[in-house]
Amino acid sequence: MSGDLDVAIVGAGIGGLALAHTLRPTGRSVRVFEAAEQVGGRMTSVREDGYTIDTGAEQISGRGYPQTWRLLAELGVDPVAVPKVRAGVGVWRNGRAHPGVADPRGLLTGAGLSWRARLDLVRLMATGASRAGADTVAEFAGRYHPDIGEYLLQPVTGGFFGWRPEHSAVAPFLDLLRRVGPASGWRTYRDGMDTLARLLAEGLDVVTGCPVRKVVARDGFATLTTDAGPVTARTVVLCLPAPQARALYANPPARELPYLTASTYTPMLKVSCLLDRPLAPRRAGRLYCLLLPEREDGVLGGILVDHAKHPDRAPPGRGLLTLLAAPRAIPGLLDAPEEEVVGTLTGAAARYVPGLRAATISAHSHRFRHGLPEATPLALRLQPAFLRRPPSPVEYAGDWILARPNSEAAIESALLAAQRIQAACPRTRRRETA
Ligand SMILES: Cc1cc2nc3c(=O)[nH]c(=O)nc-3n(C[C@H](O)[C@H](O)[C@H](O)COP(=O)(O)OP(=O)(O)OC[C@H]3O[C@@H](n4cnc5c(N)ncnc54)[C@H](O)[C@@H]3O)c2cc1C
Repeated sequence: MSGDLDVAIVGAGIGGLALAHTLRPTGRSVRVFEAAEQVGGRMTSVREDGYTIDTGAEQISGRGYPQTWRLLAELGVDPVAVPKVRAGVGVWRNGRAHPGVADPRGLLTGAGLSWRARLDLVRLMATGASRAGADTVAEFAGRYHPDIGEYLLQPVTGGFFGWRPEHSAVAPFLDLLRRVGPASGWRTYRDGMDTLARLLAEGLDVVTGCPVRKVVARDGFATLTTDAGPVTARTVVLCLPAPQARALYANPPARELPYLTASTYTPMLKVSCLLDRPLAPRRAGRLYCLLLPEREDGVLGGILVDHAKHPDRAPPGRGLLTLLAAPRAIPGLLDAPEEEVVGTLTGAAARYVPGLRAATISAHSHRFRHGLPEATPLALRLQPAFLRRPPSPVEYAGDWILARPNSEAAIESALLAAQRIQAACPRTRRRETA
């Protein structure tokens, strides 16, 4: 049997594109198959009437994203095109916003925490990570003052990752905090969060609008089925959230199933509001993100001020807000009609942003059934055996491989997949046609 390609990649998210880019200098024939009409996956931006709307990922960081920055340097992107977000994160409590979340200055300003909770936060920062073990966020929070869970861990992990405290393990979050550092180091792409994906795709063989229907491994090769027919490759790499990879792959080896199945995802839902003026949450000062704890709001998990993230996100004199649905509200909204979703979130947001409805020119929802890795204690337990699996004609990449909820993990997983492919088949094959 011979193959049409050396490597067929399913999914042109940042993981699939980083993998294709990494394999390119090795001389292999590599093609990326993408279901959507554009690249970027959960890191896509749409442009409308001068607004740049980040549909999924919102920011990266100067720290904790080494592979992202390496790719940007390779592509010649000047760091000025990825400027700092010059506004902070706050949390809502007792009718007002408290700034200083995810920032050491929060220990002084309070960041919505009582004095006793602040002392516990110092303890958490000093020794918390070493004592996290396999605890869920809720179990870990139970060791500290109740504010730590209710006004810090739940709103941050719920707002940004859609996590439920009783489901997700705390260790990946503490690890991420350690890597990324304070919110003052956050950065965003000046031209939209899809910048890196667009640049990567320019130099690659990417077929968009081409959903892959099925993947089968047989006789040391793998075949994927598209609407245009089958394609056989020496390696097919599924660069998708684990549940999507599992649904596509007809015959995965039994040893891969436990981690593949345990790598569940949280759904995410947000609504972008295109405004005729730069409105922001009241009594919130200059914030980029206002987190809304579950105790304070059952519908919204947070409000992002996109025009404070970067002024070019909205035309001059206008504004752009992103309303993040609260984790517990998302399942009931995920399949609801657009009007109902937009109405529910903008209705809830009016409490924090008076005049929102009148200022809204248009509003759209962005829904992700597979938003972010849930990183449960079970998944973390099964991960080491999965990472040790032997090479296979069907490989994987994606944030779930590292059980870390960010785009850097997707890129790192792509580098791991590239290493596995090169180790399994070090010599470049001449391209043969089936
Ligand atoms: C709401 C939200 C906010 C986030 N915020 C941040 C953030 O601020 N910072 C950060 O670093 N990360 C953030 N993330 C996480 C980040 O977006 C992801 O970790 C990263 O984009 C994952 O990349 P990926 O390539 O692994 O997967 P994806 O981006 O999911 O790519 C998979 C691709 O496969 C395609 N596909 C699916 N099925 C098929 C098929 N059958 N055939 C062909 N193609 C298919 C999809 O269309 C998609 O393009 C956020 C995610 C979400 C959802």
